[in-house]
Amino acid sequence: MTTPVTIIGAGLGGLVLARVLHLHGVPVTVHEAEPSPTTRRQGGMLDVQPWSGQAALDAAGLLGGLRELVLEGRESYRVLDRTGTVLLDRPDDGTGARPEVQRGALRRLLLDSLPRGTVRWGSKVTGVRALGAGRHEVRLADGTTVVTNLLVGADGAWSRVRPLLSDSTPRYTGVCLVETFLFDADARHPAAAAAVGAGSLFALAPGRGLLAHRESGGTLHAYAQLLKPRDWLADVDPDDAATVTARTVEEFDGWAPELTTLITGSDTPPVLRRLFALPAGHRWDRVPGVTLLGDAAHLMPPNGEGANLAMLDGAELGRAIAAHPDDPEAALVEFERAMFTRAAEAANDDTYEIMLGEEAPHSTVAMLTPAERAS
Ligand SMILES: Cc1cc2nc3c(=O)[nH]c(=O)nc-3n(C[C@H](O)[C@H](O)[C@H](O)COP(=O)(O)OP(=O)(O)OC[C@H]3O[C@@H](n4cnc5c(N)ncnc54)[C@H](O)[C@@H]3O)c2cc1C
Repeated sequence: MTTPVTIIGAGLGGLVLARVLHLHGVPVTVHEAEPSPTTRRQGGMLDVQPWSGQAALDAAGLLGGLRELVLEGRESYRVLDRTGTVLLDRPDDGTGARPEVQRGALRRLLLDSLPRGTVRWGSKVTGVRALGAGRHEVRLADGTTVVTNLLVGADGAWSRVRPLLSDSTPRYTGVCLVETFLFDADARHPAAAAAVGAGSLFALAPGRGLLAHRESGGTLHAYAQLLKPRDWLADVDPDDAATVTARTVEEFDGWAPELTTLITGSDTPPVLRRLFALPAGHRWDRVPGVTLLGDAAHLMPPNGEGANLAMLDGAELGRAIAAHPDDPEAALVEFERAMFTRAAEAANDDTYEIMLGEEAPHSTVAMLTPAERAS
């Protein structure tokens, strides 16, 4: 017997799970709130880590597809101070192990690998309830319900499935981001494009920083990062782009103009993102017939691991379900045991303290330098 699986959320974690189950012949349906695959810009660049993201895509039979998405030269990075002085500059010499791809392209690769109809778009979950004996009822926004014997919450930070397993909710981390995009930057913003270079830029000072990546087609994708109370900009209409831009750039008063252009030169309205995280080491007691993966299970501040871990979770859960076709509980026990351990290790991370702490930017230079020597 094979239990059909109901996944909530077509992010990278849910899609890797769906793909691995499909490869093993396990019936699966994914309910995704967004109306279509192209509704939302899918974030920026991801470096796909060997032990997690790449291992997951290998299990999904998609390593070849991943290689075709890699943007050459993007593993280079540099650290600057507020004056634009380059403190560390590491070109991509082709020996790096963490290829950079656009998240949207990776999601497309996964979607294209699934049979048509696997993902139900515009299928927003509004509630879930236990029916007993491991069965759950999933309520959808259109008023219909689905009953399933195996429910997986891959529905991100504000998971609707999580309350079945845990009372924890994400807490504000003290970090606000303002996201911008500059298109055709080499021609239109040459100084900013030169500052970013071929890959990633970290321009840092205590309490604030600018992080930028060069995407395909000369696009610069940037985040202003600020240590701020949760109500920072609460008095501003988030759709008032001019005011959000002005209030953000005033935090970078005196910074080199090629850096502040990453804020003022945006071709898209700036988007304020407050970062939340679940408690490090978040876990739960086993509840029959349901589990979580990715951000739904272990939302953490961005540290280059979240999407990679979500994909690994998806691959590991898929393999465990396929290995125990008659005993989904055994699969969930096996999956959760390993997932809790690796998520706790990854969450034990002080990236933001290092990047935006009192010793910035030198603390980041110090963090990156020994890692390079060891690699
Ligand atoms: C600014 C920033 C930069 C980041 N950079 C990196 C990086 O460089 N490398 C890295 O590895 N990670 C990075 N991360 C973390 C990464 O984005 C997440 O960890 C990752 O997206 C988690 O994947 P997921 O599949 O668990 O959830 P998500 O990607 O959040 O997907 C969840 C899906 O569920 C859907 N959904 C939500 N609610 C419902 C509902 N009620 N009904 C139906 N569907 C629903 C959503 O629409 C979404 O499609 C970054 C995060 C941020 C904020």
